[in-house]
Amino acid sequence: MISINDMHALVERAVSGNNPLAPDIERIVKSYTKLLRRFDKIVSLSDSYQSQLRDLNLRLELMAHTDLLTGINNRGHFMELLSAELNRNRRHERLFSVLMLDLDHFKSVNDTYGHAAGDEALRTLPRVFQASELRTSDFFGRIGGEEFAVALPETGIRGAYEVAERIRANLERTAVILDGKEYFMTASIGGSEFRVGDTEDTLLQRADHAMYRAKETGRNRVCLSD
Ligand code: GH3
Ligand code: MG
Ligand code: MG
Repeated sequence: MISINDMHALVERAVSGNNPLAPDIERIVKSYTKLLRRFDKIVSLSDSYQSQLRDLNLRLELMAHTDLLTGINNRGHFMELLSAELNRNRRHERLFSVLMLDLDHFKSVNDTYGHAAGDEALRTLPRVFQASELRTSDFFGRIGGEEFAVALPETGIRGAYEVAERIRANLERTAVILDGKEYFMTASIGGSEFRVGDTEDTLLQRADHAMYRAKETGRNRVCLSD
């Protein structure tokens, strides 16, 4: 397409050369220039629509990945991240561990203070995780009602135990205000370490079994899978 500058050069040549068609050329060029300006406007409008669309897409994606109650990864996205992490582990032998956390006697929070208060209590968990000195490569999500999972890349079972203990201890001393009173929750945590041949499910299952052992042996504790 001829640019506006080329057009102006064309008109100048026609006018200066006493070309009898100069007025016609000038008229055509004026119309052409007007159209070109409109076209530029449409292009920039379309750029702006495209960037709005991209922005909306990003926001939709974020919403699809987020648990709306707590604002952290939902189960689906946590499993996606875990799957990507295990694929990496299959290529390079690295340490990797997961934790499963289930709040203790959480039903009694709902029964005593109501479901909305229970929701408020669940929102404490992201703060507790963040206060537990996780690494930037660690990630966590809400797996179910009052169940959460934490993934710890480059971490063996001893390291996972230390992280779990920090989370457990932080939770136990984090006050939630329910009905104007301080309430303290506890959690049972199970940990498992990646073994060759593990899938997301087998790895999480072992952590889940360990978590149930923590429940059986008194709650508010950390147990590791053998
Ligand atoms: P345990 O120590 O054995 O884990 O006891 P628990 O009471 O925590 O276990 P149970 O699985 O019987 O109950 C879980 C409770 O969590 C029941 C359910 O009402 C509550 N819960 C699950 N999801 C939500 C939620 O999104 N909001 C609220 N407020 N409560 C929830
Ligand atoms: Mg549960
Ligand atoms: Mg529970």
